[in-house]
Amino acid sequence: MSSLSITLPDGSQQSVMPGSTPLDIAKSISPRLADAALVARVNGELHDLTRPFEGDAKLEILTTKNPEALQVYRHSVAHLLAAAVLELYPETQLGIGPPTDTGFYYDFQRATKFTPEDLEKIEARMQEIAERKLPFERKMTPKAEGLEKYKEDWMKRELIEERAGEIFSEYTLGPHFIDFCRGPHVPSSEKLKAIKLLSIAGGYWKGNEKNPHLQRI
Ligand SMILES: [Zn+2]
Repeated sequence: MSSLSITLPDGSQQSVMPGSTPLDIAKSISPRLADAALVARVNGELHDLTRPFEGDAKLEILTTKNPEALQVYRHSVAHLLAAAVLELYPETQLGIGPPTDTGFYYDFQRATKFTPEDLEKIEARMQEIAERKLPFERKMTPKAEGLEKYKEDWMKRELIEERAGEIFSEYTLGPHFIDFCRGPHVPSSEKLKAIKLLSIAGGYWKGNEKNPHLQRI
């Protein structure tokens, strides 16, 4: 296979083998850049640092200094929250977990109410999972297979029906967490530090009071 040509923001070009990733390029530039890197912009789209190039590309490596990378960071912390909740309370079902202007949240369906003590436990478990250095891994699932796989999980099923193309991406973080998500995310849980859970609130799925009630952390 022929090599790929990657153009950096300063106009310089690198020739890499197919299968190479933005993280490989960051490492080749400097270990410090690789360490600070959170996500890549590939031909104008945000990509995981570990997602292989699919052809010649324009590449920008984004660090915490970049506001879009900060959103990716916050969204990745939201998944870390969900992973901790699933480890501690496996009966929970996941709603959505977006970043916000000041942090992140996740909506959960669980019969028992989360308490402030639970928040402390969840936060401690998030720190533990972060330290396990788990990769965020992207896998592609055909829509029909996804609908079958999640037939018991009504929120995920609804989201897949509404938003998924013929094939959609899911991300795993460790053995317990998988969610339907477009991504991207930071490459590893070890990037996620300085985490604080602030509150538990109630809300309805999609903000509609005819829908089931969810708990928002
Ligand atoms: Zn995600």
